[in-house]
Amino acid sequence: LVTRMRRFGETIFAEMSQLAADHGAINLGQGFPDTDGPRSLLDGATRRIQEGVNQYPPGPGRSELRGAVAEERQRLHGLSYDPDGEVYVTVGATAGIASAVLGLVEPGDEVVLLEPMYDSYAGAIALAGATRRPVALRPDPADGNRFTFDPDELRAAVGPRTRMVIVNTPHNPTGTVLTPAELETIADVCRRNDLIALTDEVYEHLTFDGVAHTPLASLPGMRERTLSLSSAGKTFSVTAWKTGWATGPRPLIRAMQTVNQFLTFTANGALQLAVADALREETGWVRQQREALESKRDRLSEGLRAAGFTVLRPHGTYFLMADIRPLGYTDGIEFARELPRSAGVAAVPAQVLYDNPDEGRHLVRFAFCKRDEVLDAAVERLANHT
Ligand code: PMP
Ligand code: GLN
Repeated sequence: LVTRMRRFGETIFAEMSQLAADHGAINLGQGFPDTDGPRSLLDGATRRIQEGVNQYPPGPGRSELRGAVAEERQRLHGLSYDPDGEVYVTVGATAGIASAVLGLVEPGDEVVLLEPMYDSYAGAIALAGATRRPVALRPDPADGNRFTFDPDELRAAVGPRTRMVIVNTPHNPTGTVLTPAELETIADVCRRNDLIALTDEVYEHLTFDGVAHTPLASLPGMRERTLSLSSAGKTFSVTAWKTGWATGPRPLIRAMQTVNQFLTFTANGALQLAVADALREETGWVRQQREALESKRDRLSEGLRAAGFTVLRPHGTYFLMADIRPLGYTDGIEFARELPRSAGVAAVPAQVLYDNPDEGRHLVRFAFCKRDEVLDAAVERLANHT
C-alpha cells in the first residue's frame, strides 16, 4: 500500500456493520434506510433495464438527469446551471468527492474542513497528497446544544497553502444545518483567500423543524468558486444506487471530469433515467420522507434520553449524536466496539471522524432512518443494557 494511505484501515461504517452482523445487533451505525424509495423510481429503473438501457451513457451522465438536476437547482434555489458543462453525474457523491479533490488540489496544498468529518474527505485528501486543516464543530449550550464552529478558528485554519474548503451541510454526523450567517462566514473566508469550496449537500432534502437548507453557491460571489455535490442515495432512500451529481462553473466541473473519466468514466444509465424522473415527479414523496424522519428523530431521541443518554438534537440528516457520559462511560470508541455484543445495538463512535483526539471522545452517532419498530427494539435493548 502506498505510504500516504497506510494510516487508513477499514472504514468505521464497514467495521460497525460487520460487528452488528457478527452479533445479530440492530444496526444504527452505518446510515442506510430499511425501507425502499418511491415505487415509481424502482419501477422506472427496472423498466429501463428491460427496455435495453444497458450500455455506456455519455461520460458526464445522461442528459435527462443533468437536465433534471439543473431544473431542481433553479426551482429550489434560483441557481442556474447549464446541463451541458455545468452538471456532471458521478458514481455517488463519493466519486464526486474523490475526483473533485484529486482534480483541484495539488500535493502539499491544504484543505480546510469541519470536524467531525465524513470519512471519505480524509481519504480523498490523502490520495491527493494534501493536508487537512480541521475546524471543530462543538455543541453550543446557548443554542440547545446545536453544533457550530468558531469563526476565528475557521479564519486561523486558512494559510498560504490553503486551496479548498469542504463544507458539508446538512452535516454528517452532527445533524447541523448551517445557517445563512454561518455560510456567509465561510463564504467571506473563501472570497478573501480565493479558495474553492466543495460542498457536500447529500442530505439537502432531509431537514427538520422548518429549517431550510441553503446552498453555499447561492451566496454572493460563491457560484463561481463552488462545486456542489448531491446524491439520489439519501434523497430517495436508495443508497446502493450510487448515483450522484456535481453542479458548478465550467472550469471546476472540467477539473473533476478530467479525473473522473479515469476513475469510473461514467455511471449507471438506467438508474440515471429513473432518478431524473423522480427528481421532477416525486417531490411529494420526499416531503413525506422528511416528515417521517423528523418523527423518527423524536422517537429515537426520546428513547435514548429515557435510557440515560444526553441527546444532541439534529436539524437535518438521519443521524443524531448522543453523549455517553451520563451513563458513566467516557470513551466512545470502546463503548461502540462493545455495544453490539453487550446490548445488541450498533452505533458509530464520533471520535474516529475527528483529527483532534480531544474532540468528540464521549459522543456516539445513531442512525434513525429505520422502521419505528426497529427503533423501539433498539431503545429497549439499550434501556436494559445501561
Ligand atoms: N457525503 C456524506 C456526508 C455522506 O453521509 C455520504 C453517505 N454515505 C456520502 C457523501 C456518500 O454518498 P454516496 O453514497 O452517494 O456516494
Ligand atoms: N454515509 C453513510 C454513513 O455515514 C455510510 C456510507 C459508507 O458506509 N461508506 O453512515
